[in-house]
Amino acid sequence: MDYLIGLNPSQKEAVEQTSGPVMIVAGAGSGKTRVITCRVAHLITKGVDPFNILVLTFTNKAAKEMRERIMKAVGPEAKNIWMGTFHSVFAKILRVEANKIGYPNNFTIYDTDDSKSLLRAILKEQQLDDKLYNANFVYNRISSAKNNLISPAEYLKNEHIQSEDFATGRGKLGEIYQIYAQRCFKAGAMDFDDLLFKTNVLLKDNPEVLYKYQNKFKYLMVDEYQDTNYSQYLIVKRLAAINENICVVGDDAQSIYAFRGANIQNILNFEKDYPDLKVFKLEQNYRSTQNIVNAANSIIANNKNQLKKTVFSENETGDKIKILRAFSDNEEGKVIAEGIAQERAVKGYHYNDFAILYRTNAQSRAMEEALRKLNIPYKIYGGLSFYQRKEIKDLIAYFRLTFNPNDEEALKRVINYPRRGIGDTTIERIIIAADKADSTLWEVITDSANHLDGRSSAAVANFATVIQSFQVLAKTHSAYDCALHIAQHSGLLKDLYDDKSVEGLNRYENIQELLNGIKEFSEREDIEEKGLDIFMQDIALLTNDDNDKNPDADTVSLMTIHSAKGLEFKNVCIVGLEENLFPSQMSLNSRADLEEERRLFYVAITRAEKKLTISYATSRYRWGTLTSCEPSRFIDEIDPKYLELDFKPQQKTENPFFNQERSSWSSQSGGDTFSKPKPATAPKTTSILPKAHVPSEGFAPSDTTNLQVGMDVEHERFGFGKVINLEGNKPDIKATIFFKELGQKQLLLKFAKLRIV
Ligand code: ATP
Ligand code: MG
Repeated sequence: MDYLIGLNPSQKEAVEQTSGPVMIVAGAGSGKTRVITCRVAHLITKGVDPFNILVLTFTNKAAKEMRERIMKAVGPEAKNIWMGTFHSVFAKILRVEANKIGYPNNFTIYDTDDSKSLLRAILKEQQLDDKLYNANFVYNRISSAKNNLISPAEYLKNEHIQSEDFATGRGKLGEIYQIYAQRCFKAGAMDFDDLLFKTNVLLKDNPEVLYKYQNKFKYLMVDEYQDTNYSQYLIVKRLAAINENICVVGDDAQSIYAFRGANIQNILNFEKDYPDLKVFKLEQNYRSTQNIVNAANSIIANNKNQLKKTVFSENETGDKIKILRAFSDNEEGKVIAEGIAQERAVKGYHYNDFAILYRTNAQSRAMEEALRKLNIPYKIYGGLSFYQRKEIKDLIAYFRLTFNPNDEEALKRVINYPRRGIGDTTIERIIIAADKADSTLWEVITDSANHLDGRSSAAVANFATVIQSFQVLAKTHSAYDCALHIAQHSGLLKDLYDDKSVEGLNRYENIQELLNGIKEFSEREDIEEKGLDIFMQDIALLTNDDNDKNPDADTVSLMTIHSAKGLEFKNVCIVGLEENLFPSQMSLNSRADLEEERRLFYVAITRAEKKLTISYATSRYRWGTLTSCEPSRFIDEIDPKYLELDFKPQQKTENPFFNQERSSWSSQSGGDTFSKPKPATAPKTTSILPKAHVPSEGFAPSDTTNLQVGMDVEHERFGFGKVINLEGNKPDIKATIFFKELGQKQLLLKFAKLRIV
């Protein structure tokens, strides 16, 4: 039993404890996920049928990797394990059982865009103030109600919720929720949160269905349990109720989805729910060097709300954590990219040994630019999914309509795309007619002569005929033939073909790519049902990462910290460690939010195996303006004995014209005059970061209309420097100034707080 070899005693015990409730709450890198993998292998080896095992993971990617590992241990039997995210597993079950809760089995899954578009339509119909009732806000509110299993009726009845809504002037939220739920139901659609909400309804109201799945899933395992919400918690609890063979693993210090309703209470409840629970402790981190583990521990110690646990590493001490400073986001990208190139060359790493992690997606731009300049191949994870692109969504909307013509969002999306003379007024009339007759838009459309006047009625009837012809075709044709026919006869392919711009060509190619994918699907031998409807079910919950065509390519990984959960890389760079960015501005108002940001930082740090680099920029473009930034408090919170500052001032001599900007990663650089970390004995509260510039006494910005190249200036925050270039016309003159401390910066004179010295 190879998979048992190398496990430490507690891991082995947890693997072998296959019956009854088991919980492992342990720090990052301690082998929690590995225990789950080995446990599944162990169960199968002991003779448990893989069909009886359910493993819930946080991403599809994690499920895929786990399955591959188990396959190595036990062979192709592993294919039959039920393994995936909560959403994908329960969408699959709902496909079979939806009729029990009044839904068609071919229900559509509304993605976030569909949901928000529907909400916008409802808010418009209700003539509500879109400042108070912003679609994003309403969406989040409904999502949070669903994740707490509050139905529209309960929402409206709940005094606490109602008084809160009325107090904020949003007394109509309950009603909107109700209308939204009815409209989804009528359209035969479920949104993402419904996949869990309706699963709960299904299991609660149908004891025979519950019983069926309780018997099917004799063994349940949940990874990243700290990030489950109430709705997920209850599904697991219900399913495990008979056999109680349930094993959950997690780390409260890595709970980073509270903003989406994840509830740390679920870990605490677990002990109450299963009094004969067996708890295992894992304390050794096998992933990271001692310096990284210790630094992570010193950060998380600042959180008040956490379970006590020990994490230590017996790996090498390793390099200290490098702190880099750049004077702009572009410079930050450059420094990081050069560092990667150099580290790879010197230490013989591959590109895929590196990851760049950031707090917000927008930060990837500067990184990408810098990587491209150095020809470093990279891949962005968690970006816009292939299936989120407009042209792909358009074609898929036609597919959706073919199988579920009541799908209102799909219908609105393509009824007049490509243009077929059905204007907004006609669409509004259809909506009003449907409302009056209490029917769906599709029912009005197929009976257009009774609802609309001559010309628009003809155009609408034509559209209905086109969709109906697709429906007939879908009954007899393969997924590929059907998809190709729809792409052609909807007019979509021609519309894109006629657009000869680069974007148009790109979109046309994307459609081809989708068709290729469907062809591949049609030719698969491992599945029996190969209709276009089955293909559609497969893709509804895919993310960009699951569609990775070339997972083994040697590329640097770029992603947000949220998407890095559970992963590990030899070298990790965490960028943008600045106040108001990380921790984010929104988190600064409450301890709970700030603690969540700190846990996020803990997750980021603990992804690194060998080397961790943290960077910040002293200025950055945010929302179109250049803002100056302070280094993040989180850097100060790391025990300085694990840190190494590696600042290299871009300018050392009095003559800025001869000095090129230089990268500051290299450990061989040496000889710099910048402050080095204080000795390890320095009290933790002392900042090791350079102080911001303190303006000269009586500093007042002076008139800069006569500013000339070569003049010496003082900036309120950036300190002293020399003007090296002026460009543009009044009043938008940009000055390039070489600051003694920060190097080169470009400033818009009309905003710059400058004094000529
Ligand atoms: P996270 O909290 O980040 O999800 P985790 O607790 O799930 O971490 P794993 O990803 O399972 O940790 O393990 C971290 C690394 O340590 C992996 O590379 C794993 O293979 C390795 N590892 C786990 N246990 C052992 C062990 N007993 N001996 C050697 N390596 C181990
Ligand atoms: Mg894990």
